[in-house]
Amino acid sequence: MTKRKYKAESKRLMEIMVNSIYTNKEIFLRELISNASDAIDKMYYKSLSDENLNFNKDDYYIEISVDSEERTITIKDTGIGMDEKEIDKNLGTIAQSGTLEFKNALEKEEKPSEIIGQFGVGFYSSFLVSKEVEVLSKKFGEDKAWLWTSDGVDGYSVEEGKKESHGTEIKLYLKDNSEDENYDDFLNEHRIESLVKSYSNYIRYPIKMLVTKTRVKDESAEKPEYEEYKELEVLNSMIPIWKKNKSELKDEDYINFYHDQHYGFDEPLTWIHINVEGVVSYRAILYIPETQPFDFRSKSYKKGLQLYSNGVLIMDKCDSLLPDCYSFVKGVVDSEDLSLNISREVLQEDRQLRVIAKNIENKITSELKKILEKDREKYEKFYENFGQTLKIAVYETYGMEKDKLQDLFLFYSSKEKKLVTLSEYFDRMKEDQDKIYYATGGSIETMDKLPQGSNLKDKDIEVLYLTDSIDEFVLKVMGSYKEKEFSSISQELESSEETADKDPIFDKMKDILGDEVVEVKGSDNLGDNPVALLARGDLSIEMEKVLQYQDN
Ligand code: ADP
Ligand code: MG
Repeated sequence: MTKRKYKAESKRLMEIMVNSIYTNKEIFLRELISNASDAIDKMYYKSLSDENLNFNKDDYYIEISVDSEERTITIKDTGIGMDEKEIDKNLGTIAQSGTLEFKNALEKEEKPSEIIGQFGVGFYSSFLVSKEVEVLSKKFGEDKAWLWTSDGVDGYSVEEGKKESHGTEIKLYLKDNSEDENYDDFLNEHRIESLVKSYSNYIRYPIKMLVTKTRVKDESAEKPEYEEYKELEVLNSMIPIWKKNKSELKDEDYINFYHDQHYGFDEPLTWIHINVEGVVSYRAILYIPETQPFDFRSKSYKKGLQLYSNGVLIMDKCDSLLPDCYSFVKGVVDSEDLSLNISREVLQEDRQLRVIAKNIENKITSELKKILEKDREKYEKFYENFGQTLKIAVYETYGMEKDKLQDLFLFYSSKEKKLVTLSEYFDRMKEDQDKIYYATGGSIETMDKLPQGSNLKDKDIEVLYLTDSIDEFVLKVMGSYKEKEFSSISQELESSEETADKDPIFDKMKDILGDEVVEVKGSDNLGDNPVALLARGDLSIEMEKVLQYQDN
């Protein structure tokens, strides 16, 4: 049998592909800028192996210009350019990435690579907004330039073109406006500027554009007259925010970065900007979100921080940088000390990475303690969302995380009528009190009325009301706090039973209740309450309920 090749109507295919990959037309600019940046990177790499080629930073840039009359946008770069063969191959074949080939060649030599392209489709996104595209390119070291033109439907043509220096110029002839799309929007300077800022802000080369400004025409005139003029401006910030000094940055900058990186739709509750210089140096910006990430409770949620090396993204979600108890933290870590010749999988095991992870963990812990101390309201907001995550971490590690996390816990206090820490409880303990008491079961109001607690109440002893079903499990795993054992108020009642007072009525009651109860006893510690139900053994009634629920 002979294998046959698929036939495809290329003009339909192109349309389907471009429109199905990209839901958002505006990304065409990001794609073309990324390609331009890759082309300059290639010059940079060339200079590393070519002694005759000096990489003078000022010569490398990307320039966007807009012509409102012609309705065109041009993206120009001073990168490596393409010769005739490359133009034909890279722009004439869908899913052909010259950049990927280049990158693969580099990786063999284990050189760092900050190159973006890989899929070989980004370029075609220009047809989302253009009815015609012209690419004029001249490869570095060649004499001839080439002009590629296409309307995206009937194929493309390549002919010799005219261009002074190496690099590429891509000219987009915008589509005609229709009822649902106004392409003229992309001719607006502010629109271009904001697109560059949101998608291409950390491109390492300057992205310039002629922008319109106004100035006073004649300084000496009494009534100032204004005039417009054009000035070349760099639109992107190039230097990533985490590389800047804290003093240069406003709250707004941190909040914008949080949104730019899509860490969450909410506002960050707080952030930590870290700059560590030492055995292992790194910079990081970590965020604690104000609300739970939308998929936080689902199995598909993945913790992790973005990992950059030298401003280059290595991994988008490096999970070994975050312990489970802080899985809600978002942010970015950048270190020059990660050995880049290590492949990405090995990086997980990197010793440097572990040092950074430990350090980050400590920073988060101390930041949370600081908020708890300085801004209780903010902390309670945090605790409402992520307190359970901390508790689960202690429970699931059988108490291994106890020392780190126990002072971050909050429980409702019978005495203070609000959330308190274990250390606050500890400080208020009576001189002869050797246990930390807690109640479980239902709402705060219910627990407040439990007969089991009335004895302690009479003695003015504080009780923690556990409102989260995991709480008691956590306290059991912890066992004690500063050597004071945790004790359920019902256990307490049991140990204080008055066994001497053995009225025959109790035997009668046991007869009637049969297997429903183990025993019926008298107690002096019930206050005004006629009766209290107690659990036998180590599990409280509440815990039994939870376990039963889990089993089913
Ligand atoms: P990708 O960037 O994922 O490789 P694209 O469709 O964006 O895919 O681009 C296809 C190829 O065309 C690139 O890999 C590159 O070889 C070439 N190319 C595109 N734009 C330029 C440019 N401005 N300068 C040089 N080569 C380019
Ligand atoms: Mg690309």
